[in-house]
Amino acid sequence: MSGVERYPNLFSPLDLGHTTLKNRALMGSMHTGLEEAEGGFERMAAFFAERARGGVGMIITGGIAPNLEGGGLAKLSTAEEAVQHALITSAVHQADPDVKICMQILHMGPLAWTDQCVSPSGVRSRLGPFAPSVLDEESIEKQLRDFETCAQMAKEAGYDGVEIIGSAGYLLSTFLVEKTNLRTDRWGGSYENRMRFPVEVMRRVREAVGEDFIVIFRIAGMDMLQGGMSWDEVVTLAKKVEEVGASIISTHFTWHEAAVPTIATMVPRAAFASVTGRLRKELGIPTITSNRINMPDVAESVLVAGDADIVSMARPMLADPELVNKAAEGREDEINTCIACNQACLDHGFTGRTVSCLVNPRACHETELSYEPAATVKTIAVVGAGPAGLAYSVVAAQRGHRVTLYDAADEIGGQFNLAKRIPGKEEFYETIRYFRRMIDVHGIDLKLETKVTAELLRDGSFDEVVIATGIEPRLPDIEGIEHPKVVGYVDVIKGEKPVGKKVAIIGAGGIGFDVAELVSHEGKSGALDIDTFAREWGIDFEHHPRGGVTGVEPVVAKADREVILMQRKSTRLGRGLGKSTGWTHRLTLQRRDVKMISGVEYLGVTDEGLHVRIEGEAQVLDVDTIIVCAGQTSLRVLYDELEAAGASVHLVGGAFEAAELDAKTAIDQASRLAASV
Ligand code: FAD
Ligand code: NAP
Ligand code: SF4
Repeated sequence: MSGVERYPNLFSPLDLGHTTLKNRALMGSMHTGLEEAEGGFERMAAFFAERARGGVGMIITGGIAPNLEGGGLAKLSTAEEAVQHALITSAVHQADPDVKICMQILHMGPLAWTDQCVSPSGVRSRLGPFAPSVLDEESIEKQLRDFETCAQMAKEAGYDGVEIIGSAGYLLSTFLVEKTNLRTDRWGGSYENRMRFPVEVMRRVREAVGEDFIVIFRIAGMDMLQGGMSWDEVVTLAKKVEEVGASIISTHFTWHEAAVPTIATMVPRAAFASVTGRLRKELGIPTITSNRINMPDVAESVLVAGDADIVSMARPMLADPELVNKAAEGREDEINTCIACNQACLDHGFTGRTVSCLVNPRACHETELSYEPAATVKTIAVVGAGPAGLAYSVVAAQRGHRVTLYDAADEIGGQFNLAKRIPGKEEFYETIRYFRRMIDVHGIDLKLETKVTAELLRDGSFDEVVIATGIEPRLPDIEGIEHPKVVGYVDVIKGEKPVGKKVAIIGAGGIGFDVAELVSHEGKSGALDIDTFAREWGIDFEHHPRGGVTGVEPVVAKADREVILMQRKSTRLGRGLGKSTGWTHRLTLQRRDVKMISGVEYLGVTDEGLHVRIEGEAQVLDVDTIIVCAGQTSLRVLYDELEAAGASVHLVGGAFEAAELDAKTAIDQASRLAASV
């Protein structure tokens, strides 16, 4: 059965009146950082064109401000700027004339990166770098005119439409919500007044662009704010926006300051789609749903359930530009799945770096990182089938090299086989599945259960040897560290050593946090069950109180265990975790009463427990189990021998550098090395 037959809803066209979408797959908007980069428009043209060739029906660009005060970043308000945007639209339409591309108009309001930022009442966002000025009547009119001009310029630049973002804490949504709109004039007070500005933006944009242009309005289906929008307000706004000319309503599920994760890997797939489904019943125009829809079967089931007309997949298109074609051709097992880690996309975006993807380092680097066929085919041995060795092998083999990949273990994946066992990180299975399939697709000779020695590689049959043997967990130099109470994280995660009721964890890096999650967890993984997730985070999908969360207390399920997580540094625990996800891990552990202690000096381990000094005071932590998560050192034993023997040998991943290593660095480094061999 072809993928088109298996996913009949996903691959059915959608008639929008003046135009038709060829399928229901949408690449949602993501700010990539290319918008402001030198040569950014050429790079965006290549980035979007690759996704257009990959089969998606419609693309929405990253947010572009209608004026200076709306962003401080890229804007579109002049004909000269429109010429730049034409590079993108022509590249996309050349790649596939049937693919539609819309530009997102993003007025960031109080979140704009400029001291000229504006908002309805001057309420500063916790996340906004500047205090916004209050909009007066004249400046409100200016904002409306700037929206009109921006949309007209987008049409001139060759876009098929625009998306207006009316959610997430940006300007339009700050008019809607009482806590950010304190006005008493016709733009504030009653809901009718608070709604006036977003509705007026929609009306003016439609008037400016005429009927034959897609205008999507993005609305918060649930804004996740205590005291946020009520369900009635959401529906009223959607209906009004439809009335004044929206072609499509897109749903969003956040406000940037909300305390509920909505796209992290711990969020179940398609968790919020049913909310869009409820809204869809109220409307006469198509709806888009989004959030954690990362594979074609998930998209199809959302459509089958009647929860949306179009399914947005943003990050999944970073991870695999060919996702839709692969689905259509029945090659789903070849999809490089987005694991929702946020490490190379959102975390880069939030820290001013160009966005990319942990599992696909080419994302947003299409013009400088290419996997062209090799000029000279080489025979290559890769030792270690963790993320680094796998990425190297696949890129090298894809380019035509003959690759033999060895691993001492009986399965590929390296440390990802540990990561996937952590509740909330089940998506890591997908990366291993993808690589396993790529080994077959590219004819890599895989030799498992083969502990490689220098002798095996020294016989001269390989042109290149790549050492990707990863790391060894560090055993800290603490008196009594050999005590039976002490166990390593590998044994704990694999379930090979028992864990007592009172636990101390030495080391609070990414792995310390993951182990704390594992040993404090009880019951189903929230990532696999929407009801569990909703209970854990205090969301009421059924009654939809204001914001979906107002007055709903999270219900904490936790293991019958006391857990202490420690580090030597005096800084707050978890500072090194990802900017977009670190807070979720800290909050989860706090709710489970995990004690987090910094500035700890480890004095020794005895039958009594772990002896420590905290704030100058020596004390004994009466614990049954001490789990060591104290970082790692490189495992690179083969390298020196092979190099001394004159082999052309390279180190990648943890074998190259263990400090600060994560899978993002390992895959990026390995892919780049393999692109150049
Ligand atoms: P490894 O994954 O360690 O792979 C090395 C491979 O080499 C192994 O398969 C090993 O069997 C093999 N090998 C070693 N010696 C030999 C030999 N002599 N012969 C043959 N084979 C050999 N990173 C992130 O970016 N995000 C995360 O969320 C994340 N979560 C994690 C959670 C846990 C619980 C753990 C343990 C790690 C996590 N990491 C995460 C870290 C990430 O998994 C590592 O950075 C990454 O796996 C390093 O890749 P690598 O290929 O260099 O090494
Ligand atoms: P890590 O992040 O470097 O943390 C190591 C921890 O051990 C730190 O808390 C460190 O803090 C402590 N430590 C180091 N040396 C020690 C010593 N000699 N004695 C006692 N404590 C010591 O490493 P990791 O947790 O092992 O993670 C490995 C990699 O995987 C990291 O790069 C991490 O980013 C990645 N990872 C990422 C995630 C994620 O969610 N993004 C999850 C898991 C892993 P002090 O020195 O202050 O004590
Ligand atoms: Fe998905 Fe992670 Fe890639 Fe972002 S970095 S697109 S979350 S896999």
